[in-house]
Parts: sequence; structure tokens; C-alpha cells
Amino acid sequence: MFQNVSIRFRLTGWYLFSVTLIFTIMALISWWAMRASLYGSIDNELDRRNVNLYNGLAAATVPSVPDMRKELERTATNTWGGGLFQVFTEDGVLVFQSAGLAQHSISTQAPHVKPGERWRQNIGSPAWPARLGAQIVTLGGKNWIFEQGEPLELAQASLHSFARLLILSVPLLIGLGTMASYAISRRALAPVDWIIHDARSINTRSLSERLSVPKSRDELRRLTETLNSMLDRIESSMRQIRQFTADASHELRSPITLIRAAAEYSLNRARTNEELLEAMGRISRESEHTTQLINDLLLLARADAQADVLVRTTTDLCSAVSDVLERTMPLAQNRQLKMRSEIPALPFLIESGPDLVERLVFILVDNALKYTLPGGEVEVKVAEAGGSVVLEVSDTGVGISVEDLPRIFDRFWRADKVRSRKEGGTGLGLSIAEKIVEQSGGTIRVESEVGRGSRFIVTMPYSRKDGQTV
Ligand code: ADP
Repeated sequence: MFQNVSIRFRLTGWYLFSVTLIFTIMALISWWAMRASLYGSIDNELDRRNVNLYNGLAAATVPSVPDMRKELERTATNTWGGGLFQVFTEDGVLVFQSAGLAQHSISTQAPHVKPGERWRQNIGSPAWPARLGAQIVTLGGKNWIFEQGEPLELAQASLHSFARLLILSVPLLIGLGTMASYAISRRALAPVDWIIHDARSINTRSLSERLSVPKSRDELRRLTETLNSMLDRIESSMRQIRQFTADASHELRSPITLIRAAAEYSLNRARTNEELLEAMGRISRESEHTTQLINDLLLLARADAQADVLVRTTTDLCSAVSDVLERTMPLAQNRQLKMRSEIPALPFLIESGPDLVERLVFILVDNALKYTLPGGEVEVKVAEAGGSVVLEVSDTGVGISVEDLPRIFDRFWRADKVRSRKEGGTGLGLSIAEKIVEQSGGTIRVESEVGRGSRFIVTMPYSRKDGQTV
């Protein structure tokens, strides 16, 4: 119901509701307390008069009902009883009613009072509202019921004017409080309007702008700081995307320029067969490189869009490593590199497709072979450690400098562009490897020293049987 109302109004509404409730309860309590206090003092007065009456009569020593009546008639004019009293025998027979009470036609029925009890009753006649109080007293060896009356006009008038005061002041206080609450919430929420204004002015072209942070150390400051740090992340992602698009177009342009140049060279004028074969060979190599580049880009785009996450197959890491080693062995021999491997006989099932696991191992082994000088050594190890499977690919190659280490997983980053390209590299291998590892829930890291070699360490969760993660 209140979804479309601003927070400011909602806060004020809640405040109005709670303040009205609290003030109404407080007004009722204070009216009730005032009434209790007024009746309390009237009751004390009634008791005091009964005591006075008793003391006055005790001095006269009254033995029987007629004597009591006589004594009361005689003294009724003095102030012992306050002029508003009646006396009954214990059995409820009226002994005497003072003229003050008779004048107001007060009932001559004895009240139902028990010994030791103080009995009270309000009589609500509009002409003479009063309160009666009775108790049993023992006088001359007999029990008598003394009943006193006290007009309530004054007390009721005070109660009425107090109620009037409450009825006037409570809504006034509620109104003032609500206005103050609206002003306070307006002030407190003013920074929200600035945030909205600032946020609206930020778009893809002005992503470097930030929201102004309020001075106060409160939730709104935390909110702006959080939004600003989110903008930092968005800006850096946008920068990466722009860089990636620029790099991708550049990388695609080079082979296409080479293909075009080779084709134009062949078409320019009559060429010998050898020249044509040479040009065809170049076109074929560059097309192959371009296809590889496009496939890599596609794979990364699919991984970014999380399209492969749903493919929940498992692949044995050990057999993937054996296949890759078999495939790359001739390459190693060609480069006069020694290959060593330690692969356990038990399967280590990784949550990933067989193509992807082979691709991961291939990228690491191929890099190790590419960046190691003849006579060097490449070692591939699979082992279990801390509940995960660890794949280690180490080489005694050129190594990676400390400054370059944090960048090697960046797309298109290569320490030596010419060398990488000559070796058929696209500069996307390690970013693809990182994605594959990430999607299987693992981590990849590298230790390296220039001139001494590198070690890529991949740690991934595994299972022994399908669907059973260790
Ligand atoms: P590329 O296609 O260039 O091999 P990668 O993403 O696989 O692209 O690797 C990025 C860069 O990291 C390489 O160009 C190279 O400079 C460096 N690199 C990768 N593996 C190794 C290694 N084993 N030894 C030394 N440098 C490496």
C-alpha cells in the first residue's frame, strides 16, 4: 500500500502513528492517575470524618439505639460528621440520617459493609454527584455502621478540565511532533537526492566521475562509498573491455593484412609457381593463426558469458595429461628438450569437459616447451595434496620477471610479442587456462625466476567416481 510513497512520508507516517499511540496511552494513564488521586483524597476525608464522628460519640457513651439517635440528633448540627452522614445498626436499621443527606434524598438502605472493610460507592445523580464511604465501628459494646457522603462536583470539575486540557494539548503535541519529524527526515534524507542527482549524471562516457561523499559518518556515507567503489570496479572492467576490443581488432588486423598482401602479391603480375606456392603457404599459415585466434576469442566470450557452467561433465586429469604428453613429445624432441612426468595410476575426475581439460594442460605444456631453450627440461606432475589434485608444469626456461608476473594472465599480454607470434601464440593461452581452472572451482598460480625457469601450479577439487566430490 505504501510502496509508492517516499521514505520521508513513510517515516513521518510511522512517527505519527507511534506518537499518537504513545500520547493517547499517556493521556489515558495520567487522567486515570489524576482521578485515582482525587478519589484517594476524598476517601481519606470520608475516613477522617467517620473517625471524628466516632470520637465525638465515644465521649458521650451511647448504650442503646434510642440513646444513639438522641445523641446524634443533639449533636448533628456540630461539625463531627461534616453534616453528611447516616448511622445504621449492625442489622441495617437506620438510626439517624443527617439533614444534609436527607436533603439530597439519599437512600436509607444500609450499605453491605463487612467488619474491617472500608466500603465506597459513587452516586451518579446529575443533580448531586457524591461519593459515599462506610465502615463498621464498635461503640458501647455494639456494632454500628457509619456512612459519610462527600459531593463530587469539585473533583469532577477538575477531572473535566484536565480531560479538556489533554484533548486539546495531545493533538497539538502530535501535530508539532509530526511536523518536526517530517523536517528532520527531510534533512536527514537530503543527501539521497544529491546521490540520485550525481548518479544520474554518470554514464559510460563519464565513468571516472564519482558521487560526492556526505561529511557525516553515517549509513548514507557508507552507501556512497560502496557505490563509488562499485563504480571503480565498473570503470576498470569497462577499461579492460575497451582494451580487449582494441587488442582483438589489432590482433585480427595483422594476419588479415598479411593474407591480403600475399594475395595482392600473387595477383599483381604473373608469378612463378614457386612464388605462388610460397604466397599460398603464407596465406594458409596466417589463416590458421586467425582461425586459432577467433576460436580462442570465442572460447573466452563463452566463458565470460558463463555458457559452459551448465556443462556438468567430469574428465580424468591423468588421462588428459597423458594424451597431451603423447601429442607434444615430438615437439619436445624437435627442440631437444627433456620431458619428465609423474602421473598416478588412479583417476582424478575434474568437473569440466575433456576438451577443456586437455586445452588447459596443453597451454601449460606448450608454453613450457616454447619458452625453454634447447637442452632444457620440462616436468609435468599430478599429485594429491590437501584434498585437491595438483597439476604442476615446470620448466628450466627463460622465466618471467617479477614485474611481468602479475600480467601474464591478462588477455593478449606477451613478454615478447615477436617470439610468441613466431611460435604460433595468440597471447590468450594463459587467460583461457585461468578461465578453465576457475570454472572447475580451482586456482592457478605461478612461481618463476628469470633465466632459471617457471612453475605453473594448478589446484582443483576432484572426485574419484562421477558426481562424488572429494
Ligand atoms: P602466448 O600465446 O604468447 O604463449 P600465453 O597467454 O600462453 O600466450 O602466455 C602469455 C605470456 O606469458 C607469454 O607470451 C610469455 O611471455 C609468458 N609465459 C607463459 N608461459 C611461460 C613460461 N613457461 N615461461 C616463460 N614465460 C611464459
